[in-house]
Amino acid sequence: MSQRFFPAGTVLLLLVTLGCLAGPSPNPTPTPDPFPYLVILVIDGCRPEYLDLAPLPHLEQLAREGVTFERAWVGQVVSNTPPGHATIATGTLPSRHGLVSFWWKEAETGEVVWPTRHEDVRVGEETAILEAAGVPTFASLYRRRHPAALVAATGGYKSFAVAALGLDADAVLFAYMPSAENVRRDRFSGNEERASPAGWRVVPETVPGQEPPVGSLNDPTLFRAADLGPGDGDVWAMDATLALWEEMRPQVLLVNLPDVDRYGHAYGGPADPERMAQLLVNVDAQIGRLIEAYKAAGLYEQTVFIVTSDHGMIAGDRYLGEGDLPGPLVEESIRAIVGAHVWLRDSTQAGAVAEAIERARVAGLWGAYVKVEAEDGGFRYRPGPGTAAQLSDEEAWAYEALLNTVAGPRGPDLFLLTEENLLVGGKPEILGHHNTLTWGVQHIPLIIAGPGVPQGVVSQAPARLVDIAPTALALLGIEPEGMDGAILTDALLHPDPAWVRREQEQAALWWAVQEVLIAAGAEGSP
Ligand SMILES: [Zn+2]
Repeated sequence: MSQRFFPAGTVLLLLVTLGCLAGPSPNPTPTPDPFPYLVILVIDGCRPEYLDLAPLPHLEQLAREGVTFERAWVGQVVSNTPPGHATIATGTLPSRHGLVSFWWKEAETGEVVWPTRHEDVRVGEETAILEAAGVPTFASLYRRRHPAALVAATGGYKSFAVAALGLDADAVLFAYMPSAENVRRDRFSGNEERASPAGWRVVPETVPGQEPPVGSLNDPTLFRAADLGPGDGDVWAMDATLALWEEMRPQVLLVNLPDVDRYGHAYGGPADPERMAQLLVNVDAQIGRLIEAYKAAGLYEQTVFIVTSDHGMIAGDRYLGEGDLPGPLVEESIRAIVGAHVWLRDSTQAGAVAEAIERARVAGLWGAYVKVEAEDGGFRYRPGPGTAAQLSDEEAWAYEALLNTVAGPRGPDLFLLTEENLLVGGKPEILGHHNTLTWGVQHIPLIIAGPGVPQGVVSQAPARLVDIAPTALALLGIEPEGMDGAILTDALLHPDPAWVRREQEQAALWWAVQEVLIAAGAEGSP
């Protein structure tokens, strides 16, 4: 992509930043432990503005000690939890790692595949999907360099987030609620506590072959009644994390904190800043507990901490239910429409459905992209004819670049283009959502702090989820082989010039896409 998309201000900022940071070569002090440590904390469904809603001393401390990426974004579609976490774990895009959403339709067979249900995650089905993609993982590249190192992923009740984060990890630990029906399938059926059909309980659970030390998996304090209130899911996640950490001390720890997303859906996210502030105060306290554990173990100074989210959240100023959507779209789609991505019963109807959407002129739903087979045998997304007529070349190119992150046999047949803060489908009582192609969904927080990271820097680099693993590996002195993302060199005190060049090439492209999304959000439809 040509440099014409690279905004002059960004070039200047990047150069100034690098100029300021270029100095004498690093002079690392030897540490008693040969391993660099890493913690990645994913606050699920967290908008960057949430971090300003209340004093959050631990997150503020990490920001002071590191780099805040103000223009961090998801940088891919579909913007929901499974693909986001798979991308963080692998440094590859959904078009490669193949976990494109919670479920999808396989283009070749027409079969609907749904490996993210809790019952399937805990028997390894989601993990198997990702393993079959043959993509690199954070864990495997780290362990190739440090064979004795331990990698673990933990979290709460979002099993599908933790299992994806924990691809190739030594241990995976999440919360599970066995129901009477699940008990029949329970491979722990000899364990009365787990197998108890009496009422719903939260129990620690894992993935076959990735069992954590038995003390954390059977920790009696992690068996609780299932009526979790706001913030309790994050407390459970950190209790489990600390239980595992005490036994295992993994060099790499990947954590999902689920409640900001869950209650963002329930409260409407940014529409209820008071309750979101309470959730963030609790998240900050949980992160503080982890930081305290690292300090007590004498490991804090050699640990890189990364805090981010898998996607943002929008509150619906307006809501489009199925009754508001064009008939052919509702009739042809597989299952209920939730958000901008749609699989059709008959994929060959995608063009016709896109034209029906364009003809219907539903307020707030201003266009559609269709998946087409490309000449090289792969797939691409192209605007419907009425949509193309509304878009400038730059806008058309930007949407296509973003949609092509999931272009492949599993990618959705259709993407809907909607105005900002418009909820599409789902249940009307869900007040917040994040499945549209808008900046409010794409914009996420990203803080990177620790050894080798400049302190107190604010970067404007358009950092994507796919850049996190390469950047973390670079900070740990490991080449991120085979990954799609770029190394975010603003996070490095002494970046390799080749990494800076690669990042600039990608940044030009993605900055331009961000500008299109931000402008569309500010103006409504083009
Ligand atoms: Zn969500």
